[in-house]
Amino acid sequence: MVFEKGADIFIDEDECVGCRKCVEVCPEDVYELERRPGETDPDRVFKSVAKQPENCILCLSCIEICGKSAIYIDNKQ
Ligand code: SF4
Ligand code: SF4
Repeated sequence: MVFEKGADIFIDEDECVGCRKCVEVCPEDVYELERRPGETDPDRVFKSVAKQPENCILCLSCIEICGKSAIYIDNKQ
């Protein structure tokens, strides 16, 4: 079977503290940090968003590195 990129990626917003580790570890630039509008808690100002889930190669590095276990990935294949 030919491997096709892409996965369904869910980030638990309640758990994500915007530490940026998933952004830095992902080899396919799937994630970006976004500011939470109006948030003043320093641990909550940013959250990770899977902007390009179609690029995911299922290396699972993001899941391994997220200290909050906030990332869930579903293989579409
Ligand atoms: S590694 Fe986890 S806690 Fe850190 S920004 Fe990514 S999803 Fe959020
Ligand atoms: S599994 Fe790998 S390629 Fe997919 S989003 Fe996570 S770090 Fe990026």
